[in-house]
Amino acid sequence: MDSKVISSKELSKVDPVFGQISFDNHEQIVFCNDKDTGLKAIIGIHNTVLGPAIGGTRMWNYENEWEALNDVLRLSRGMTFKSAISGLNLGGGKTVIIGDAKTQKTPELMRKFGEFVNSLGGKYITAEDVGMTTEDMDTVREVTPHVVGISEAKGGSGNPAINTAYGVFMGMKAAAKFKYGSDVLEGKSVFVQGVGNVGEALIGHLLKEGAKVTITDINQERLESVRNKYDVVIYEGDDVYSQEMDIYAPCALGATINDATINKIKAQIIAGSANNQLAEERHGLILQERGIVFAPDFLINAGGLINVYAEIEPCDKQETIKRTENIYNTTLEILERAAESGLTPNVAALNMAKERILKRKNEELK
Ligand code: NAD
Repeated sequence: MDSKVISSKELSKVDPVFGQISFDNHEQIVFCNDKDTGLKAIIGIHNTVLGPAIGGTRMWNYENEWEALNDVLRLSRGMTFKSAISGLNLGGGKTVIIGDAKTQKTPELMRKFGEFVNSLGGKYITAEDVGMTTEDMDTVREVTPHVVGISEAKGGSGNPAINTAYGVFMGMKAAAKFKYGSDVLEGKSVFVQGVGNVGEALIGHLLKEGAKVTITDINQERLESVRNKYDVVIYEGDDVYSQEMDIYAPCALGATINDATINKIKAQIIAGSANNQLAEERHGLILQERGIVFAPDFLINAGGLINVYAEIEPCDKQETIKRTENIYNTTLEILERAAESGLTPNVAALNMAKERILKRKNEELK
């Protein structure tokens, strides 16, 4: 990456860290550099009031360091609210490693990264995210205990996507209860956008309940492999949003609810696993005005986090299932709160998460 020389005058204008909108009172930001392995990483620790900051490691070929910094701050902050609203004793953090995961990731680099994580003494717990695999976390585990999402063979909790899908299903049912007065999804038409790990597992739940499932993905092989396994229809067009459907389940990318799509959406409910589905907070308001129920993504996609939590505070599978099923109750409560207060569900969910953090903070001060 080219390094640009920025004059101190210019720097003073941009407030590179504390002045960033996404900085939002981060507790600590750690820049990790290792010449020998080429490691350049940023660990963001947003909030540890409820417990150690947890959040995956993303390896991405960022255009520049500003982009990497902004990404880690935004994602780490998001983890704080996900942990809080899920009732877990965890805070929010995240790591970005700058580089191409396909060509620059080596076991040496991962071990060096693990040493940096270890140096934080458990204040930050890492896991996999984009560009990382369970095997990479196993490598990190060689040098630090502060990592989750390691393989079952090594005592980990395995693929979190299965539980993420179950949580999304619970959130979707709660949204149906709120919208239709019944949480039964039988006969409802559901569009699943993105049939990867989470999308595929979600389809299993939907079909078991008698929903009519249509799938879409940019990967033709995935589409066909899923259709060969399940009774689903493939949508071949390029305008998912305008299609007649009861429920839209975004399970691919974030920001699909944006200026270009929002007025086309015909669904009555939006509930999926993708992070940051609303391009901007105001899109939540437009959905509300249009009578479309939005199940906040960071709440209903927390099943994966709940799954890895068992590696931090050991519990049996039943407890993990119970916590995941509680996503139903929380989603319903949020939707009811939002309707009463006039806030959007996303803002109501953020407020609930912040209330829990504040309560703990006040208890600690007593
Ligand atoms: P994945 O990579 O296994 O699957 C994503 C799928 O979306 C792929 O099949 C891909 O081809 C498809 N896709 C990409 N762009 C698309 C587009 N424009 N239109 C349609 N399909 C497209 O990922 P995953 O683990 O299933 O996660 C899905 C989403 O849920 C991601 O946004 C992820 O960040 C989020 N999420 C996942 C978990 C988890 O436990 N895996 C937890 C929380 C959130």
